[in-house]
Amino acid sequence: MHSSESTRHSSEATRIYFDRAADQLDLSDSMRGLLTTAKREVQVQIPVEMDSGDVATFIGYRVQHNAARGPMKGGLRYHPQVDLNEVRTLAALMTWKTAVVNIPYGGAKGGVALDPAKLSQRELERVTRRFVDAIHDLFGPDVDIPAPDMGTTPEVMAWIMNQYNKYHGFSPACVTGKPVEYHGIPGRDEATGRGVGSLTLKLLSRLGRQIPGSRIAIQGFGNVGSHTAKFLHDAECRIVAVSDAFGGVQKTAGLDLLQLLRHSHAHSGRISGFSGGDPLTNAELLALDCDVLIPAALGGVLTKDNALAVRAPIIIEAANAPTEPEADAIFDDRGIVVLPDILANAGGVTVSWFEWVQNRQHYQWGMNRVRQELDRILGEAFEQVWQLSLSRKVSLRTAAYMLGVGRVGRATVLGGIE
Ligand code: GLU
Repeated sequence: MHSSESTRHSSEATRIYFDRAADQLDLSDSMRGLLTTAKREVQVQIPVEMDSGDVATFIGYRVQHNAARGPMKGGLRYHPQVDLNEVRTLAALMTWKTAVVNIPYGGAKGGVALDPAKLSQRELERVTRRFVDAIHDLFGPDVDIPAPDMGTTPEVMAWIMNQYNKYHGFSPACVTGKPVEYHGIPGRDEATGRGVGSLTLKLLSRLGRQIPGSRIAIQGFGNVGSHTAKFLHDAECRIVAVSDAFGGVQKTAGLDLLQLLRHSHAHSGRISGFSGGDPLTNAELLALDCDVLIPAALGGVLTKDNALAVRAPIIIEAANAPTEPEADAIFDDRGIVVLPDILANAGGVTVSWFEWVQNRQHYQWGMNRVRQELDRILGEAFEQVWQLSLSRKVSLRTAAYMLGVGRVGRATVLGGIE
């Protein structure tokens, strides 16, 4: 889909979802105005000398949406479709997400419009350091803490910390998702996918469905999609299809995940050419006969044009903003249960919080503790959303927004606005 069209939809979508919850909560117009406006939006020029010697000019964004519950938090995206509208939408989603899982943060998001596959490592490093040069006064451990998102890696986070430290002294808590050998925390890499997987199991149990043998289709095989697949495969689910931007592969009996992971590692993350299944397109994957569909890539992929073709009774939103409101309404009508992004993919930011706590304690957490605490936090949030959805007879999405928006609203009132 064309970029501006898809971001227009996702910003409208999040506003529609917000308003639905705000109606349920009886929020005043003035509170709605306050909660839907970003606190600060920054756009900067990033001129960088490329390996060829030419100068290329990139544009970087950081939107700090809301700080009522704590320092603002959210990833940094490197993707050609990044624009201010998309970053603004994703920043607001972070505000509701941190509130749903009740961690002491607000929401933010950043991005640079570029295709990381087309830049060398040295060029990516220069872009990252120049971006930090431009915004280092606007973020930091108590203000706004970036993290990985689509197209960014632990290495990028290491450059951010290193560059930030040149201005502000040793401050590992200024960014999360760092490499474990460079002030990161074990388990951050797998956290979003692990969270998606464990919430999928909780939802299957709550719906009275069997876990072993459940047929799972996953769109996207990057950090989130691959860790989700691994977690659910270990839980004896059948991964019947996965895809990436170039197409996918399917096998009704279940893909051999270890082989697939090995193949993707050997082919710069791509799954094309994998011989352990039949090829399928992304459109076919979304319409596949399966028990759980997990969009784990771009936003705006479930639309009014393909919502009727979806055959899965359960959708888990591992991606941010994958479902347009028209599609959401169709799923509601058809009784398809959707676990919303602001809960489903909150495992990443939750473990980012552990990393930040660890950095501030000058202490080192172990993997077991990370996994245990992650499970506890996601489990509590899931139960609260589930119960609210039952008691108020609303969808899981509206319940999650009610919980998140309600918490941010209360913090705003308690803190006062003077
Ligand atoms: N980019 C991730 C998200 O969308 C993680 C953000 C973070 O760890 O701060 O939730």
